[in-house]
Amino acid sequence: MKAARLESVSEMATRSVEKPIAGPGEILVKVLAAGICGSDRHMFKGEYPTARPVTLGHEFCGTVESIGQGVTRFSGGELVTIDPNIACGICPACRNAQPNLCARLTAIGVTRDGGFAEHAAVPEGQAFLLPADLDPVHGAFSEPLACCLHAIDKAEIRSGGSVAILGGGVIGLLMVQLAKLEGAAKVILITRQASRRQMALDLGATHAFDPSATDTVSAVRDLTGGGADVVIECAGVPETLRTGIAMTRRGGNFVLFGVTPAGLEVPITPFDLLVNEVTIRPAYLNPFTHDRAAALVASGALELDKLVTKTIGLDDVAAVIGQSPEAGEIKVIVRP
Ligand SMILES: [Zn+2]
Ligand SMILES: [Zn+2]
Repeated sequence: MKAARLESVSEMATRSVEKPIAGPGEILVKVLAAGICGSDRHMFKGEYPTARPVTLGHEFCGTVESIGQGVTRFSGGELVTIDPNIACGICPACRNAQPNLCARLTAIGVTRDGGFAEHAAVPEGQAFLLPADLDPVHGAFSEPLACCLHAIDKAEIRSGGSVAILGGGVIGLLMVQLAKLEGAAKVILITRQASRRQMALDLGATHAFDPSATDTVSAVRDLTGGGADVVIECAGVPETLRTGIAMTRRGGNFVLFGVTPAGLEVPITPFDLLVNEVTIRPAYLNPFTHDRAAALVASGALELDKLVTKTIGLDDVAAVIGQSPEAGEIKVIVRP
């Protein structure tokens, strides 16, 4: 079968590899759709640890083609979405119901072969059932959505409240929709690209600001009477960390979701945090949220088609991952 393999740092190729077999407790998934994620680009550049060589692809959906020994939840033919993150179940974090913080976390499409391939073998416990007639492209959104849901859980948005979202990529645009579903009265998206601001407004944001043209801290404070109840940082750059904390209302929640380069330091002002009681809540990966993400995708409550800006085959994966996102790019979907 064909697979897009990360061979070594900055070296990726689509090649013919042996078709995997479902081992004991595993299912073999015929991949129908897989999303390219910003993390894939970090992995390509060696900025995020992976196995090498490895087949990338951690956001995917497909049908169960065969089952391994002892598999009980699937018989074959089902449409499934895969939670790529495999927790050990026995370390202190796992024992405390925080599998995203597992000391021995492994991941499909990161440390073992993933979904940029015609087939992938995965433990059955990582697979979640989707309705058979669901568009598999929508199913492929379950993984990023599951991570967003963890952030939304941490954000504690209240009906009628205000939410500011920094970053207008696929994550920011999913967060806009989720904030609306939570009942936020004001949903403010902050991003440089005009096309993304327009899309956010189309998806239900009430306001969209360009940080290169507007003092966003003042704008959000004016609009909300002192700061947003919740701020969700999805850009992962020092500037949005600084402005995001500053535009959170006294007593509000600042959710850290964007991935900054490891080792990056950003100055904070403890006095301001103290007297304003701004709570910084990091939200990492998808602990126990993949099932809800799959259910939400299946419900049709989210606008996902608009977020897909390009669809490619396996042969073009390396070219997309090896380059910076194109202007206007939101989500690239691979259809093997
Ligand atoms: Zn991802
Ligand atoms: Zn663990």
